[in-house]
Amino acid sequence: MNTDGWKAEFKVSLGCGGTRVSVQLKIQKDTNKVALNTAMGLFDSIENVIGRECKSRKDLIKRLMGDQIIDALLFMPSYSFLKQRVESPSRQHLNKVIVVEFRILGIEEKRYKSKAPKKAIGLVGNVQVSLVFFNSMARLFRYYLRIGSEVAVCGRLTEGPNGEFQFVHPETICQVTSIDQLVGIHNVYRLTGGITMYHVKAIIKEAVSVMKDIDVAEWIPDDFLEQRDWYSFKKSIEMIHNPQTESDTTLEGPYKQRLCFDEFLAEHIAKRISNEHKNSEGYIIDLSKATLVKKFMEKLPFKLSDDQKKVLEEIRADLATGRPMLRLLQGDVGSGKTVVALLTALLVVENGYQVALLAPTEILVRQHYETFSKMLEGLDVHVDVLTASDKTKRRREALKNLADGTTNIIVGTHSIISNTVKFNKLGFVVVDEQHRFGVNQRLMLINKAENPHILSMTATPIPRTLLLSMHGDVEVSLIKTKPMGRKDIITRAISMNRIDELISSIRNITAKKEKVYWICPLIEENDKWDYTCVIDRFSSLKEFFGDRVAMMHGRMDSAERAETFDKFKGDGVDILVSTTIIEVGLDVPNATVIIIENAERFGLSQMHQLRGRVGRSDLQSFCILLHAELMSDISRERIEIIKDSNDGFYIADKDLILRGTGDILGTKQSGTKEYRILKINNPEHEEIIFKLMRDAGELAQHIDIAKVGVLLKIFTNEETLRSIKQSF
Ligand code: ADP
Ligand code: MG
Repeated sequence: MNTDGWKAEFKVSLGCGGTRVSVQLKIQKDTNKVALNTAMGLFDSIENVIGRECKSRKDLIKRLMGDQIIDALLFMPSYSFLKQRVESPSRQHLNKVIVVEFRILGIEEKRYKSKAPKKAIGLVGNVQVSLVFFNSMARLFRYYLRIGSEVAVCGRLTEGPNGEFQFVHPETICQVTSIDQLVGIHNVYRLTGGITMYHVKAIIKEAVSVMKDIDVAEWIPDDFLEQRDWYSFKKSIEMIHNPQTESDTTLEGPYKQRLCFDEFLAEHIAKRISNEHKNSEGYIIDLSKATLVKKFMEKLPFKLSDDQKKVLEEIRADLATGRPMLRLLQGDVGSGKTVVALLTALLVVENGYQVALLAPTEILVRQHYETFSKMLEGLDVHVDVLTASDKTKRRREALKNLADGTTNIIVGTHSIISNTVKFNKLGFVVVDEQHRFGVNQRLMLINKAENPHILSMTATPIPRTLLLSMHGDVEVSLIKTKPMGRKDIITRAISMNRIDELISSIRNITAKKEKVYWICPLIEENDKWDYTCVIDRFSSLKEFFGDRVAMMHGRMDSAERAETFDKFKGDGVDILVSTTIIEVGLDVPNATVIIIENAERFGLSQMHQLRGRVGRSDLQSFCILLHAELMSDISRERIEIIKDSNDGFYIADKDLILRGTGDILGTKQSGTKEYRILKINNPEHEEIIFKLMRDAGELAQHIDIAKVGVLLKIFTNEETLRSIKQSF
């Protein structure tokens, strides 16, 4: 191979001890000089940049940072701060990490009391400060901390028992001549047990140095970068890991902005591909084929609400056009979205197409399957279910029935639209309880060469502006009113010291054959957080209610959870103690009380979602917010809002004001990706984020997707890449 300035270039890959290194050998044209460099790519294993000292911890590192070199580069600092040089410390520096010049006047060591700390006492400027150590630090004292000598010290300044200034186990002690190296901006990264800041920084440093030799083709046009005073991808990454000012690592600075923009751009490109498909041909549904719908309506034990009817009309209009529908149905918890999906499904089935209903958890899948089977009894419609715990034989049978068209409606988790599942004629996909839906599932379907109508349903109201920037081309339907005859849930806040009263009043509820959810924030005791956990609460309630109490949490496997939940739904259990895993979608009509313990720890939308587990029939329901006696102002305000309002849209707006967009954008729901670069923790950045999103949306329309190269690969997912290969 002949490249500029080089006569020849060889690439060799060597395998050694489980790691692969590729070596590049170049011979210069004029001088015949040989240059050797190890050529690595961004997608090579992260092991290539893990130094020898932490090779043994490589699995921990991979779990923390990711598998590839690019993951180390995109591992963003949580925050950064300035280590300032201070000539003469005062109270204003307390609890800050500072850098000082320290002159040692004396050593204090109580030889006979081994537990007493060892101290070096001295002066910084003319203020007395001591360095405090709880072990002997013999080498340090021998070489650096000798009476009369001066050293540079970096550490957190604190106050000793008698009000004196001190550094307890300072981070760094070195020669005064090196003091400048201690001063500056320092990044703080997320860690995990066994991995120190030193390890993480060493890995990132190595990854940055590897990146320097790699060509990363830009996808943002030069003039676009210039206009915004942004820099190349490589420079941005490098600067974020080696910041010069405090804003270099935040959204106020150009580097983070640019990388967030990259992330949005990738998302918009995926959206564009998916939208281009929207204009392609879809299945025309003949609305007059409605025998199934009619039969179903005759048996339905209630009348549809006006909003349900309106939404159905909107959906029917879409189905008749012949272009694939992409519609988001927003309706508060308990507003009756499922029956809308079911009625639409019947129309599609009668037109000869299959329907897939996707839900995020196995319990929800089973619930939908039961609802559908029950409601469709007596109609000639075959409903089936497929989950991860269905084993080989059952699974094979389900797959066969789907492929040959026997099954009309399949209920399952998202895996049923994966590549291994073949449909006979998939015409309609319902995605339940997912507010960051769409693009990826859609691309997955497109990649399977299916082009069905899609209805996505969510109880998390998303403000209009956000929706547009997130989903672009999606139509929205709303169910605002609850079904007739529903009583408003009565919400009360009570403090922990009344828990005995609460427990005895539960007896009145269970005596009426009604059910109680008891929600706790954590699974087990944890040093850091002193919250009552599921396991403790379960055992304390057991003393009162015996085996009428059950518990459910994320560490149980999904079959075990489903079994517990079935007991609760049926007659086996009255009280279910659970973490927030019960948050979405569950429908147990005779559950009338939900107790949210440590309510001060929950966000607004989360509390509202949880409350939606009750009030699902005409029985009067209650939500009890059990809170600590002492609370912060913001917790108190949140509890007041939930107490005063049952309106999900109002609560979502308040949530946005109190918390910023974080919860809505960086969704924690299963099956959706979180942003890697963007971590919204400062509501003041909202403006910047919206602008970045909007601009990325615009650029994505003009960019030549066939030429975007490696940056798209970095920031996007497999589905997008696959569809580009297919359609460009
Ligand atoms: P969500 O919108 O939260 O998914 P569901 O679809 O699970 O709510 O409906 C909640 C409950 O309300 C179900 O038990 C359902 O049968 C019932 N329901 C739905 N529509 C009506 C209606 N128009 N009148 C009375 N009950 C209804
Ligand atoms: Mg639902």
